[in-house]
Amino acid sequence: TLQDRLNAAFKSLRGKGRLSEADIDATCREIRIALLEADVNLSVVKEFVAAVKERTLGAELSGALNPTQQIVKIVDEELVTILGGETRTIRWAKKPPTVIMLAGLQGAGKTTLAGKLGRWLREQGHSPLLVAADLQRPNAVKQLQVVGEQAGVHVYAPEPGNGVGDPVLVARRAMYHASQKLYDVIVVDTAGRLGIDAELMQQAAKIKAEVRPNETLFVVDAMIGQDAVNTAKAFAEGVGFDGVVLTKLDGDARGGAALSIAKVTGRPIMFASNGEKLGDFDVFHPDRMASRILGMGDMLTLIEQAEKTFDAEQSAKAAAKLTSKGGGDFGLADFLQQMQMVRKMGPLSKIFGMLPGMGDMKEQISNIDEREVDRIEAIIQSMTPAERDDPKILNGSRRARIARGAGVEVSDVNNLVSRFMDARKMMSQLATGGMPGMPGMPGM
Ligand code: GDP
Ligand code: MG
Repeated sequence: TLQDRLNAAFKSLRGKGRLSEADIDATCREIRIALLEADVNLSVVKEFVAAVKERTLGAELSGALNPTQQIVKIVDEELVTILGGETRTIRWAKKPPTVIMLAGLQGAGKTTLAGKLGRWLREQGHSPLLVAADLQRPNAVKQLQVVGEQAGVHVYAPEPGNGVGDPVLVARRAMYHASQKLYDVIVVDTAGRLGIDAELMQQAAKIKAEVRPNETLFVVDAMIGQDAVNTAKAFAEGVGFDGVVLTKLDGDARGGAALSIAKVTGRPIMFASNGEKLGDFDVFHPDRMASRILGMGDMLTLIEQAEKTFDAEQSAKAAAKLTSKGGGDFGLADFLQQMQMVRKMGPLSKIFGMLPGMGDMKEQISNIDEREVDRIEAIIQSMTPAERDDPKILNGSRRARIARGAGVEVSDVNNLVSRFMDARKMMSQLATGGMPGMPGMPGM
């Protein structure tokens, strides 16, 4: 999947301090393959990768993030941009009713969506009316009536023996009915076909001309992948629409269609459906979809928090100490400072859980004992500054005194000191890579 690929691509970068152009090229190749495998449209992929590469080459190295994290951040930002940036909601009519028309292929999920929208609108204090303008399939009107009932909203349906066959006429009457009964939002369900079809487009265009919607929503099944792009183009030309609703996202873990459609149509994705039940529905959030595509939502949270809590000056000092003299200048006081900085980001088990690749280490993560970290803090705080600077002077009596002060056993002090020495050796070797400000954590 896209997520696995990107994870693999980023993994190979992990631990690198600075990225060469070759590194960036290699990563971009992986991103390209990943997106193509996720069924993203080729021209979309090309443009996307070019944008990421350009930004990565020009990026200033940020103190708070290592290069891998920077690329993840850039990829994420580009995804969000393509997906529409800000969440876009319905543009309400200045003078009600607001008219929302649904268009799309048969089976896309329009009728189900009408029910979902109806419920969602009602929950927001609107009084919506669903209009059955799909007279194509024998059961279509009944289906809308059923979802309308489930949603607790009214449905306008053609009455038997009363201009039944003409959806434009039904739409016109529904508009009149709504103005009489003071509904403030009208959701017009229309007919679809199995494939792109000129007659269908004409019918939808006629209904659109009749009801003059504030929002025409193109409803598309996310699982149809590449085909979604052609379908979207055909509807853009044949009917025209203002926004997109992606349905059946529950069946498409990859999100490739979302990316293609948003980019190709230039129209915002406004809602997402992810199940058959009326509640399986939400406003579309570009940022959430981007992290879903990346499969790194948690990593992104971590990046955000790292940027927020990162003390550049302090970390630069610590890094300098680690890189000189085999790390000999990096003392327990620095260790404590770094540890506290990391802790500010949140519970350790959560932070480690957010690192990519750590998913395989669930058990170890749950074993990180916050109390042990508290104990370590207490031990270091019981040391004199000289002891913190140079743990080598810690003889038996000093260790006993520290243990008493911290309320721990001498063996705990011994343990910490020897682990600190090991960690320092390792960190000084890795000092240029990895996560800045991330000390070798106890228990890992
Ligand atoms: P329409 O022809 O565009 O009106 O599509 P329908 O609303 O009749 O939906 C077609 C089928 O897709 C029905 O069986 C729905 O239950 C199902 N469906 C609609 N939306 C979703 C969704 O978000 N997820 C899943 N899994 N099924 C959906
Ligand atoms: Mg339908």
